[in-house]
Amino acid sequence: MKIEYVCERKEREKTSKDFIYINYRKVKTQDVLGYFIFLNTAVGAKIEKITTRRLWMLKNKFMIRLHDLIHSQLIGSNGTHIQSLIGLEEICNGCEKCFNIAKKCLEYGPLRFSTLQTMTYSKNYKKLHVTDKLFEDIAEYCISKSKNKEECFQELDNTIFPVISCDTLSIWINETRVFPDGMEGLEYDHRHMPREVIDVILRKWSVKSIQLNMIYFTNEGMCSVDWLQYDYFTRVRLNDPYFKTQKSPDLKFTNVDVEMSDSIYCVRDLGVRYPKYKSPRGYANFIPNIRRLFPTDKISMDLSHWCCIANDDIEKKMSTILYVVSMEQPQNLSVDIKFFVESAIVKKLNEETKKEELFGIAPKYNFRKHCLQCYKKSLPFEVKLGPDAFNSEKWIGRRFQVEDTFNQFNFNLDVYIKEKDLEDELDKEMLQKYPNSFVGHFYN
Ligand SMILES: [Zn+2]
Ligand SMILES: [Zn+2]
Ligand SMILES: [Zn+2]
Repeated sequence: MKIEYVCERKEREKTSKDFIYINYRKVKTQDVLGYFIFLNTAVGAKIEKITTRRLWMLKNKFMIRLHDLIHSQLIGSNGTHIQSLIGLEEICNGCEKCFNIAKKCLEYGPLRFSTLQTMTYSKNYKKLHVTDKLFEDIAEYCISKSKNKEECFQELDNTIFPVISCDTLSIWINETRVFPDGMEGLEYDHRHMPREVIDVILRKWSVKSIQLNMIYFTNEGMCSVDWLQYDYFTRVRLNDPYFKTQKSPDLKFTNVDVEMSDSIYCVRDLGVRYPKYKSPRGYANFIPNIRRLFPTDKISMDLSHWCCIANDDIEKKMSTILYVVSMEQPQNLSVDIKFFVESAIVKKLNEETKKEELFGIAPKYNFRKHCLQCYKKSLPFEVKLGPDAFNSEKWIGRRFQVEDTFNQFNFNLDVYIKEKDLEDELDKEMLQKYPNSFVGHFYN
C-alpha cells in the first residue's frame, strides 16, 4: 500500500493542499479515516506493506493524525501482518509505535537514531533503509560520548549491534543539504558522510547488497556540523573526484542498485556532460566512487526521471552515458541502466532542408534483440489541480550493449519509449529512408 503526498518537482515547503494519494488515487484528507475503516471492515484487507512518501510535507496537525491512523487502522498494535514499513519515521522522527513495528518487519526504515538505539534484538532483515543524516547522527553521538579518537571508535563499535543483519542496505542520499546559517557552503548539495560509520554498519550487519536512493530533497536537509570539527572520520561524498576516495580493501557486494526516480542533480549529471545553464554537480564520479565505497562487479540504475535529461538527441545522450559509465576504464564490471526517454528525442529537424531526420545509434553500441516492456505510473497533468488518479502507461524497451571483453566490462542500456508514442508518432516512409535509425529498432 502506498500513501503519498505528491508535489511539484521543486516544492520544499509544507503544503496547504487537502488531499493525498493512496494507492495512486486521490483521497481528501477528511475522508482518510473512512477509507481506512472501509479497507479494514468491508475489504478485510490484511496489509503487509506500507510505503509512505513525503508525508512530512503535510500540515502538522493532519500529518500527526495520519501517522497515528496508519498505526491504529492499518498496522494494529500487534503488527501481526505487517512485513514492510517504509517512510513513516519521516513524520515522527522515530517514536515508540514505530520502533515496536520495526521489530516485526522484514523491511524497515529509514531509521532514525532513536530507533537504531532500540535495535538490540537479534534479527535478519531483508532490507533496512538508512539516511546520510543517520550517519552524521551516529558520528556526533560517538564524539559526544568520548574524549579522543580511540574512545570515539570504541563508542561506534558499541553503538552498532552485530545481532542485526540485513541482506540489502538502502542508503537514502539527499542531494540538496545545507549547513546551518552563517556557515560557508550554503549551496544545496550532497554533503560529506563519515566513512567509518558506513563501514562499521556494512560489516556488523553483514550487508550483502546495496541500494542507493538518490533524492532531490528530504526533511533532513540541515547538516549536523559538529563532527566536521574533529578529524576522527574520513569524509566521503559520491560526487567528489573519485581518485580522492580510498578503495575499501575487504568489502564486497553482490550488486549496487541505484534508484533515481526522485533525483534531479545526480540523474542530470549522468546524462548531460556539460549542462547548458547550470554547473555540473560532480556525479560524473558516481560509478567510480560507488566501486570504491561499495566494491561490486554489478551496478544497475533506473533513469526513470526522463523529463530532465532525455529531451534531446538520443545519439548524444547514449554517448554521454557511455562516457560517464566507462570514464575510469572499469574492469570486471557489468552495468545495467534503464533509460526512459521521450519519443521526440529520436529525430531532429534539419535547419537547411526543413525536413525531419532520424538519429542513429551512438558509436560502440550494438543492438541486442530484446523485447522489453514495463508499466509505469505517473500523474497525467499538473499536480496543483490534483487529478483523481495516476495514469498507468506501457513502455516498450530495446537493449543496446557495449562490450569490452578484454577488460570484462559489459554495459547494457535499455531504452524505453511509451508505447502510445510509438503508435502515433512516426510514419513508415521515414523509417525506410533511415534504415539504421535508433527508433527503427522499436518497429521490428
Ligand atoms: Zn512513529
Ligand atoms: Zn570531499
Ligand atoms: Zn524529470
